[in-house]
Amino acid sequence: MKIAAIISFLEGLAPLAYQEEYDNSGLIVGRPDGEVNAALISLDCTEAVVDEAIATGCQLIISHHPIVFKGLKKFNHATYVERVVEKAIRHNVAIYAIHTNLDNIATGVNARICSVIGLSNTRILAPKSNLLKKLITFVPQSHADVVREALFNAGTGNIGNYYEVSFNIQGVGTFKGNENTTPHVGEPGKRHHEDEVRIESIYTAAYENKIINALINVHPYEEVAYDLIPLTNQNQQVGSGMIGEFETAMAEADFMKLLKERMHLQVIRHTDFINKPIKKVAVCGGAGGFLLKRAIAAGADAFVTADYKYHEFFDAEGKILITDIGHFESEQFTQQLLFEILSNKFTTFAVRLTTINTNPVKYYI
Ligand SMILES: [Zn+2]
Repeated sequence: MKIAAIISFLEGLAPLAYQEEYDNSGLIVGRPDGEVNAALISLDCTEAVVDEAIATGCQLIISHHPIVFKGLKKFNHATYVERVVEKAIRHNVAIYAIHTNLDNIATGVNARICSVIGLSNTRILAPKSNLLKKLITFVPQSHADVVREALFNAGTGNIGNYYEVSFNIQGVGTFKGNENTTPHVGEPGKRHHEDEVRIESIYTAAYENKIINALINVHPYEEVAYDLIPLTNQNQQVGSGMIGEFETAMAEADFMKLLKERMHLQVIRHTDFINKPIKKVAVCGGAGGFLLKRAIAAGADAFVTADYKYHEFFDAEGKILITDIGHFESEQFTQQLLFEILSNKFTTFAVRLTTINTNPVKYYI
């Protein structure tokens, strides 16, 4: 199995275009045409994880956090980042990161936290804009069905829980080819009128190449007419954080107990109880402080996230219960999520979960 095939599957699910600007998801070390028999999944790519990959014969590490965020200028063993990259290269171990692009999809890291806690009616807390486009194409009526089918298969027409969404109008197209043409209908040098269908369908910009290729493959004309239009609509399926609700509201103390139990926590840092039952809960794996205003505006009673600083706790202002459950803890189910995604899809290579707890934060209790 080639690394490129695994990447293409993962990026079909969580395109790199969905990652945040500061991020560095993607293939960090290794060649796309490298062969893989076994891949190791981890949250962080530490030296111990690279050693584990070597010892267990894994040619690929798939980690949530990228080992390299910024440019590396020296490779002289001085930092753990340099040592990890050097060791991986020396031992032909590829490193792939699937970070905020996995956070930002509706079936990603935050969806898993919601399901572990028991939240339903979940939706993305801060949907992203400018990720959607619209394709408009003009097809002879005889080929409208086959073109629509190909477009839907390539990924157009998905809006929330609806699929195969398109708008169609009938009209008349005209064209006149020169002597170098062999038109599908009509004759060169003569203006032709053809009953056509104008098909419009929305799509995720990241899939554009695949969609255009599919269109050109099945469209009968020599010159395919199509318009690609950028949209500023929010994509409700892509963005930061999620919000959901419990079937029945619970007291704050009961919520904390549930959180501690389900997320296997030793300790929770939190703001004062506000004597309000907890029903709606916002979540964001990792550092989610930037979403607090969104969580309050969406009516969340509690916010489950990590990496809160002292002064940021004051921003709760008695409106919401902030719970900082720890960065590693908030993302601990991400490995399992990746394991399930890959092992459900592929049977041609082995997927392993790291046995190493890479959490650098320890609690002295
Ligand atoms: Zn993280």
